[in-house]
Amino acid sequence: MTETHVFRADALLAAVRAIVGAAGSSPAEAEAVATNLVEANLRGHDSHGVGMVPRYIDAVLEGGLMLNAHVAVRADSGALLTLDGQSGYGQVIGAEAMALGIERAQRHGVCVVGLAHSHHLGRIGHWAEQCVDAGLVSIHFVNVLARPIVAPFGGRDARLGTNPFCVGIPRPGAEPIVLDFATSKIAQGKTRVAYNRGVPVEPGTIIDNHGDPTTDPRFTVIEPSGALLPFGEHKGAGLALICELLGAALAGGKTGGPVADGRRRVLNSMFSILVDPERLGTAAHLAREMESFVAWTTASPPMAGVDRVKTPGEPERETRAARLAAGIAVDAVSWGEIVAAGVKVGLAARGVQALVR
Ligand code: NAD
Repeated sequence: MTETHVFRADALLAAVRAIVGAAGSSPAEAEAVATNLVEANLRGHDSHGVGMVPRYIDAVLEGGLMLNAHVAVRADSGALLTLDGQSGYGQVIGAEAMALGIERAQRHGVCVVGLAHSHHLGRIGHWAEQCVDAGLVSIHFVNVLARPIVAPFGGRDARLGTNPFCVGIPRPGAEPIVLDFATSKIAQGKTRVAYNRGVPVEPGTIIDNHGDPTTDPRFTVIEPSGALLPFGEHKGAGLALICELLGAALAGGKTGGPVADGRRRVLNSMFSILVDPERLGTAAHLAREMESFVAWTTASPPMAGVDRVKTPGEPERETRAARLAAGIAVDAVSWGEIVAAGVKVGLAARGVQALVR
């Protein structure tokens, strides 16, 4: 197990803002990236937090991530929008795409948004939360265009991305339901975090380069590559396939396959459906049914080792409250990589360190 630092959220924000800004992003873009990544850490998803900074900076330097890019509208028929993220920072592209979709869903009652070729959209729940804040239900299917990392059901090598699926449902007067997960048994970033911490991953989550079970996270981090397994056997693998076909193909994006140009960028395409329950005429009904159903399911007696039955989105909110109070742990390897990313874009290592002190 490697050493771990604990940083306050605002200190990490300052460090990420400085590094992303030094790489050439506008202050607004640097702010969006920093806020989104630190928010992922606060919500317990370190796989999609500040540890992504080195990969983003490499992608900028290699020309795979376009700085200060904005969403381009490719087709617009009111309630249907086809957008292109132009390989821009997903933290900006995702927010712009959802803002457009929200405005349309408020006008028409529904909006279908096909967003192709954003750079990494991070934690997809972030976009569902943007919709929830506007009172909208949203469903998101996402593909990941990078080196394939997940084996199809029954396969011995990686052919799929970790293709996340997400649903957000606002609850008047209560915290929303936000179901947000990778279709792999664990997110790829979690194996990177395990590798950097020097700890094994759970049995049954990855296979090695021969397609045999292993708990060594190296097989999804460094060569020779193995693969993550899909969650839920054939069901999760099927959902991952649907994320390619809807999230990419229907949305106007490219589906996965062998990486042709070898560049270390991560592109996401996302197919989203935004619905206004008010306009559907079921808002009051939804609220009533949801409250009674949530109460019914969460009243289930907890199993041994479980404190209580929770709703999707609840663990993230609990972790957020705890980490705002106690700080965010970042392992020394990841922190070293973040500082090194700052150095690559012209900052002094001591300057980055000073920002988190
Ligand atoms: P996970 O396995 O931690 O599952 C998270 C989901 O399960 C959340 O909705 C959470 O509220 C719910 N949950 C967890 N514990 C629960 C409990 N005890 N009771 C009720 N609900 C519970 O998530 P993951 O698969 O590791 O994904 C992590 C993040 O990675 C997600 O935010 C996802 O969007 C993101 N991701 C992004 C990409 C990308 O390319 N942009 C790819 C893959 C994953």
